[in-house]
Amino acid sequence: MNSKNCNKTTPDTHKKGSSSSLISADIAIIGGGVVGCAVARKMALEGASVVLIEKAPDILDGASKGNSAILHTGFDAPVDSLEQKCVQNGYDEYIKIHESLNLPLLKTSALVAAWSKEEEDRFPDIFKKGVNNGVKDLCLLSRKEILNLEPSLANHIRSAILVPKEYVIDPWSAPFAYLKQALENGGQALFNAEVTKGRFDGTNWYLNTKQGEVQAGYVINCAGLYGDILDKNVLGSTQFQIKPRKGQFVVFDKAARKLLSSIILPVPTERTKGIVLFPTIFGNIVVGPTAEEQESRSNASVDKKTLTLLVEQAIEKLPALAKMPITATYAGIRPATEKKHYRVIHNHDKNWITLGGIRSTGLTGALGLACHVHDLLLQQGSDFKKLETPVTTTVPNLAEHLPRDWAREGYEEIICHCEMVTKREITAAMKGCLPAGSIDGLKRRTRATMGRCQGFYCSARLAELTKEKFTNTIGVGELDD
Ligand SMILES: Cc1cc2nc3c(=O)[nH]c(=O)nc-3n(C[C@H](O)[C@H](O)[C@H](O)COP(=O)(O)OP(=O)(O)OC[C@H]3O[C@@H](n4cnc5c(N)ncnc54)[C@H](O)[C@@H]3O)c2cc1C
Repeated sequence: MNSKNCNKTTPDTHKKGSSSSLISADIAIIGGGVVGCAVARKMALEGASVVLIEKAPDILDGASKGNSAILHTGFDAPVDSLEQKCVQNGYDEYIKIHESLNLPLLKTSALVAAWSKEEEDRFPDIFKKGVNNGVKDLCLLSRKEILNLEPSLANHIRSAILVPKEYVIDPWSAPFAYLKQALENGGQALFNAEVTKGRFDGTNWYLNTKQGEVQAGYVINCAGLYGDILDKNVLGSTQFQIKPRKGQFVVFDKAARKLLSSIILPVPTERTKGIVLFPTIFGNIVVGPTAEEQESRSNASVDKKTLTLLVEQAIEKLPALAKMPITATYAGIRPATEKKHYRVIHNHDKNWITLGGIRSTGLTGALGLACHVHDLLLQQGSDFKKLETPVTTTVPNLAEHLPRDWAREGYEEIICHCEMVTKREITAAMKGCLPAGSIDGLKRRTRATMGRCQGFYCSARLAELTKEKFTNTIGVGELDD
């Protein structure tokens, strides 16, 4: 069995399962993307026994593995929507908890940049929406003010709206910290455990997973790109259809970081937030994402034509990028649906909540969605007893602007020289509460192989250190993901 639990004393509620159940819990959360991890944390802290079930060998195998990592204020979210509420609550919660979990925050701010008169003409609507969404600190900047802030931007910029509190975070450490806290507070996680079927007896769910049966009082479907398929396979029907939407990115070398300190947002359209130019928490500059409809839910390949267009667009806005090397390319797939909004469906009679279609803002909205799930369960009459003294431990810092492990004595050896990843970091990521379950999981926990050489120099040493510890193998020269 491949299940993880940090708390050796299994809560009593886990023991009430039928004799054939592998695990029994109050709540089963299906899917270990950022949304599932946030829900697991929230409900464990609220005193429920939780089990997170993930089909991959580690968390973040779907949409959550490739995004822009922007902590959105929600200034441009649909007014009065559930998405806007979750983004705002998720943002506030992240700001509240990030220090206690050692999660980084890069206070970049954002500029909604107008490069044409037509784009400027849309500014009044953006201001109005921002105010309606409670983001009242937006302000207009002239070309001169913009170039004072960002001297490397192309000087054909006309004006911009400053969004002071739009920030950048670590897209992988955050969900990792959420699930880790859930496990430290009695939760469990089951990997390599795709949920294929299930049955509800009016009180409990019995879920068939590839590891065995899981019994739970409530089920939260957080299956992201497969949310509709899961509803269909287990509930028998679905109310939405996932329409995968790919976003490709180009990562510029760390030398480019000095060229830009803010997130440069385009004027958004009804369909997409558009191509963004942004610093990452790891010290790069990135351009992307595109918005490409496709059939495949898993094909996150990149293509030369699109990447070339992205680089051209980036250079048009930040000309000095023309001289900067490119470190990596990657793509993420949004779990979009035939409608724009979050598809949150509470099937009251079946103790089942689906968090579907969490398309473009889920990294920010996840903690807010988790609160929403708690509210829905309260409405349904659940009476969990909130933990009085929850366990809170930190995760290792990977942000470039904060002290990294290599700066402390006793790290033994630098394994990845591009990203300065130490042997101590690799060893720690292979142990503990939520050890890496795959080489991709290890990369996301440490940044090993994600730098300039993309693993060319360190993959062999990493293979040695992780030998027979994963079920999958190391891919030399793999693209950043
Ligand atoms: C290109 C791009 C840019 C983005 N930029 C941002 C941004 O800047 N800021 C922001 O806030 N958001 C952003 N997002 C959105 C954010 O990444 C998503 O909203 C979020 O990742 C959705 O997470 P999820 O947990 O719902 O789904 P997923 O991450 O897809 O997780 C679902 C998990 O369920 C598992 N699973 C599926 N089926 C089963 C099954 N039957 N049994 C067990 N497990 C199963 C999968 O393996 C997967 O790990 C972006 C997204 C993309 C793609």
